[in-house]
Amino acid sequence: MNILILGSGGREHTFAWKIAQSKQLNQLYIAPGNAGTSGLGVNLPIAVNDFDSIKAAVLEHQIDMVIVGPEDPLVNGIHDYFLDDREIAHIPVIGPQKEAAQLEGSKEFAKAFMWRHNIPTAAYQSFTKDTLEDGYAFLETLSPPYVLKADGLAAGKGVLILQDLNEAKQELKAMLQDAKFGAASATVVIEEFLDGIELSCFVLTDGRNFKILPTAKDYKRIGEGDTGLNTGGMGAISPVPFADESFMDKVRRQIVIPTVRGLEADQLPYKGFIFIGLINVGGNPKVIEYNVRMGDPETEVVLPRLKSDMISLLLAVHEGKLDEVELEIDKRTATTVMAVSGGYPEAYNKGYAIHGLENIEDALVFHAGTRSESGQVLTNGGRVLAVTCFGENQQQALAKSYENLANIDFEKMYYRKDIGFDL
Ligand code: ATP
Repeated sequence: MNILILGSGGREHTFAWKIAQSKQLNQLYIAPGNAGTSGLGVNLPIAVNDFDSIKAAVLEHQIDMVIVGPEDPLVNGIHDYFLDDREIAHIPVIGPQKEAAQLEGSKEFAKAFMWRHNIPTAAYQSFTKDTLEDGYAFLETLSPPYVLKADGLAAGKGVLILQDLNEAKQELKAMLQDAKFGAASATVVIEEFLDGIELSCFVLTDGRNFKILPTAKDYKRIGEGDTGLNTGGMGAISPVPFADESFMDKVRRQIVIPTVRGLEADQLPYKGFIFIGLINVGGNPKVIEYNVRMGDPETEVVLPRLKSDMISLLLAVHEGKLDEVELEIDKRTATTVMAVSGGYPEAYNKGYAIHGLENIEDALVFHAGTRSESGQVLTNGGRVLAVTCFGENQQQALAKSYENLANIDFEKMYYRKDIGFDL
């Protein structure tokens, strides 16, 4: 099969690495890809939201399946674009259609879905600029911290957690009246604060059958001890030790089954990955958010633990036969630590040479923001590369990730040395 992966991060490099192991693969293409993916397939200089150019590439390279990495093209309707075009309608697209992608594209849509299907989540109400006064009144009924969420996609910045009631009111006004997050904050969801430890659960579904993939925990903040600004993710661990059998049984019964049944009941066709952001509140899982694709850097620890053939799994998703394939999982722990450009997530420079990649031992290096120039790999983003290692436990795996990172070098390289500190 000829496969096209859309995206350019560590997640897509990991998909490329996993797909490249399949005997069913003929040729792999990645659009736009990075220096890491160019070693596994052909990078195509096409942006993930340029659907017409994607279609042209699919026809030119006789692509048999498209795997969508990031959320943007899904929320913009790439799956529907394929289905609506007779020339490409038959080609499997892994990722939900536009309406179901609203589970990530609109927090209000996601919350209403959860309440409709009795899926445990924080209580909430949503407001627009016409109901600003009601929003203030609702805030007064809550106790701090106050959780304010821009309804739409805001590049991970649209959620505010505030201690002070007046500040919460001011921010609500800024979001609704002054478009603090543009159109994304034309509606704001205010919800109950949930106190607990977060983890992510990944589900692969054909819209009816599903497989629960390994759990993972990511580390979002730039600073050690999970302090400072939010990032795309600084590291991840899989499995999550506290997500034991009894906890995962609750996740399956109370969250995964009602989610997939809910999609069916609401007639939301869904063929792809569901990323369920969970919080463990006193032993009970509650949903913080849905994402309609895999996470990054969670993919860098989840996919390496899948022993099953990825193309077979994804073909089964397309054919609605996911119940007929077995999911085999590596029992070992996988950890990944992300090396980032100094200054990230604020301003940083790109174009520094990355040294030491030839010294990697017993590790997988997934490129996130890199490009090659005259045979040299250069930094090309805030998050640069993720070093994934296996171990019998978290300590062993992390020790290997850190040993390897010590051998890699680029100007102003930074990484957190405390991934897994809270587990
Ligand atoms: P991401 O950047 O992970 O995509 P997002 O912008 O889509 O996030 P959420 O995941 O809904 O938004 O919220 C971001 C973070 O805010 C969560 O990971 C969690 O740490 C915190 N958070 C969100 N909702 C709550 C809540 N009800 N109670 C406590 N913390 C919350």
